[in-house]
Amino acid sequence: MIDVVVIGAGIMGASVAYQLAKYRMNIVVLDKENDVANGTTKANSAIIHAGYDAYEGTLMAKYNVMGTALYENLCKEIDAPFKRTGSYVLAFSEEDEKHLKILYERGIKNKVPQLEILNREEVLKKEPNVSPKITRALYAGTTGIVDPWFTCIKLLENAVENDANIIINAKVVQIEKITYANRKGFRIKLEDGRELETKIVVNAAGVYSDEINNMISENKIQIIPRVGEYFILDKIQGNLTKSVIFQCPSKFGKGILIARTIHGNIMVGPTALDVINKDYTGNTPYGLEELKRESVKSIENINFRDNIKNFAGIRAESTNGDFIVGEAEDVPGFFNMAGMKSPGLSSAPAIGIHMANMIVEKLGNIDRKDKLIKNRPQIHFMDLSPEEKEKIIKKDGKYGRIICRCENITEGEIIDVIRRKVGAKTVDGVKKRCRPGSGRCQGGFCGPRVQEILARELGKKLNEIVLDKKGSYVLTKETK
Ligand SMILES: Cc1cc2nc3c(=O)[nH]c(=O)nc-3n(C[C@H](O)[C@H](O)[C@H](O)COP(=O)(O)OP(=O)(O)OC[C@H]3O[C@@H](n4cnc5c(N)ncnc54)[C@H](O)[C@@H]3O)c2cc1C
Repeated sequence: MIDVVVIGAGIMGASVAYQLAKYRMNIVVLDKENDVANGTTKANSAIIHAGYDAYEGTLMAKYNVMGTALYENLCKEIDAPFKRTGSYVLAFSEEDEKHLKILYERGIKNKVPQLEILNREEVLKKEPNVSPKITRALYAGTTGIVDPWFTCIKLLENAVENDANIIINAKVVQIEKITYANRKGFRIKLEDGRELETKIVVNAAGVYSDEINNMISENKIQIIPRVGEYFILDKIQGNLTKSVIFQCPSKFGKGILIARTIHGNIMVGPTALDVINKDYTGNTPYGLEELKRESVKSIENINFRDNIKNFAGIRAESTNGDFIVGEAEDVPGFFNMAGMKSPGLSSAPAIGIHMANMIVEKLGNIDRKDKLIKNRPQIHFMDLSPEEKEKIIKKDGKYGRIICRCENITEGEIIDVIRRKVGAKTVDGVKKRCRPGSGRCQGGFCGPRVQEILARELGKKLNEIVLDKKGSYVLTKETK
């Protein structure tokens, strides 16, 4: 009998698994995809929000402010990057200024530290590329940026280092209540016929968290998928801003943002449009045109010709407008982390701790482990000193072979992320873990080399290697 099954290996499932792995218990994380962090966690704005946006008294406000305060230390613990950049919400009119005041006051009620309304000159001094048409801005000093999928992978890697199990390609299709030794538990059925029995279930299934909840609870919930599209610009544009530049909240949610990413690119987005298909993450000419038109109001000299990638993510918008966190009232032992729209990423560390505490209390008599294993540091060759580079090449010559020329990633780094716990199995999986293919050529040069390395390391044929999702074959057969 398993103690806890977590359904979903996004940032929510990862955050609770990371915390639970600190205790002596048997944990299994399931995901329907062929890799972890393949849902919304890999397609969002990557901002750790300060917390002035959500209404006072909501779970979103509470967990956002708590989570943001926890991020820096958490990222140190798991060896993931984090940068506290600060953010600005720009006002262009008296109407916008009224909005800044509302956000400021809400932030104060939510106990957000380092909030300040700045005048035009103060903003332009710090962010000289911002439009001179602004009148004021709300500055939030605690806003940060992360690499969301990398954070998720590192949390799961650590959970596995500390004896949690992850099963990918494991789609949950049914949950039943069972009784064992006079206690209540659950039988989870997977699409391929496998079954697992567990004492506790955690629903962290993102946009599908309504379907998982509705399999077992009579308190039905509904998730409306809302798509957000983005531009990623080359690092040449990286100096446009050092922080996160928002406009006032609008039909686009928190407002279209322009931000420097943790790796030095510029991100522009997102749009906001309700859709029917929960898996649709394509881009539309309409959405991208809208982004171009709106974003240049914040920074006039963005050059969209330096666009290297577009993507879209799906928000899990719950019909109650807030996060759904905790034990289902009618199903003891079944815990929801549902409706995790933004600021879900920011809130995840706090929700992970809270959820783990509730589960430990529910199970009773669970001890913390005496000793926890830390993640083995992940080398980025180009960050090493010349002496360190020489030393590592002497030890393993594959660190002397550059595979991705845009991001300067070596073969040694790629092999490492394939061989690690929660290792990469797809081309995109390697990219998520050490970035080959994230640069200007978007894998045009290194993609085939990454496929070769994956095939060799995994003992597969070249044409069995997929780009990202199941069935996304890159090669079909040998040519002459
Ligand atoms: C456009 C956009 C911008 C955003 N920007 C920000 C931001 O800047 N800051 C912020 O704090 N938040 C942001 N968010 C929100 C944040 O991205 C989400 O809150 C967070 O990623 C949700 O994580 P999750 O683990 O709940 O979902 P996911 O990452 O989607 O994980 C759910 C997992 O469950 C799996 N799953 C689903 N059904 C099943 C099943 N039947 N069986 C097994 N597995 C299943 C999926 O495969 C998936 O891997 C944004 C979201 C979007 C869409």
